[in-house]
Amino acid sequence: MTVALEKPAVEADGAAHGAVRIRHLIKRYGSMIAVDDVSFDVAPGEFFGFLGPNGAGKTTTINAIVGLATFQGGTIEVFGADVVRDYRRSRSYIGLSPQEFNFDRYLTAEEILTYQAGYYGITPSRAKPRVDALLEQFELGDKRRATYLQLSGGMKRRLALARALVHSPRLLILDEPTAGLDVELRLELWDFLKKINDDGMTVFLTSHYLEEVELLCSRIGIINHGKLVALEDKAALIARHGQGSLQDVFLELVGKRAHA
Ligand code: ATP
Repeated sequence: MTVALEKPAVEADGAAHGAVRIRHLIKRYGSMIAVDDVSFDVAPGEFFGFLGPNGAGKTTTINAIVGLATFQGGTIEVFGADVVRDYRRSRSYIGLSPQEFNFDRYLTAEEILTYQAGYYGITPSRAKPRVDALLEQFELGDKRRATYLQLSGGMKRRLALARALVHSPRLLILDEPTAGLDVELRLELWDFLKKINDDGMTVFLTSHYLEEVELLCSRIGIINHGKLVALEDKAALIARHGQGSLQDVFLELVGKRAHA
């Protein structure tokens, strides 16, 4: 992973706002409450870690931010754009690498990236240098004509990241981005994420790899049973819970021990 990518487009509108502003978010599936009055902000340029055990409400929150899920209460803004009333603008700021792959299985890697650029009004000829750089960046250059079905699990994961970045978003949302990546690729991806964050892109990461979150994120939110149970700078959060590792803090707040 060597090719430098252009910095996210900086636009005047939205610049004075937080990257993500969530107020009193409520999401129910029938009688089950998946997200229960959650409020938090992510600042521009931040590397934010959003943690929680299985079923805590992380993906549901992400789906609400990106407009994939409706919600019953609260508001969400992305760089000042309301995700419901101003959906197209808010969505244009976001690159999403989802937990579940949702590619058209018969398209090639190159087509997947080019068509994604098209959703954001980028013509194939304008998209080509960006698509080529991303395919190289994620070591998919020799797979550009392979269809989704012909890619390995780790290649699909890398393609999902490339697709998230194709329109140079200001906010990159990563739902379990390193699941299925081998150790070497995971380390390379960490370097890459650090670099794009240093270059100004806001990153919102969920991961069950707590060492990954501890290494990359500057501020952390923890959700459990749909409720936010921690929201703090990483160092302060760890210090306040006795100078252990993030894993110790996590288990203390949401592990079975916390409910014993
Ligand atoms: P994981 O770490 O396992 O991915 P998560 O924190 O992302 O978990 P969510 O996927 O947000 O958790 O799920 C939160 C709750 O909402 C869970 O109880 C889940 O079963 C429920 N849920 C999620 N999607 C739906 C759906 N489409 N219909 C009904 N219930 C759902």
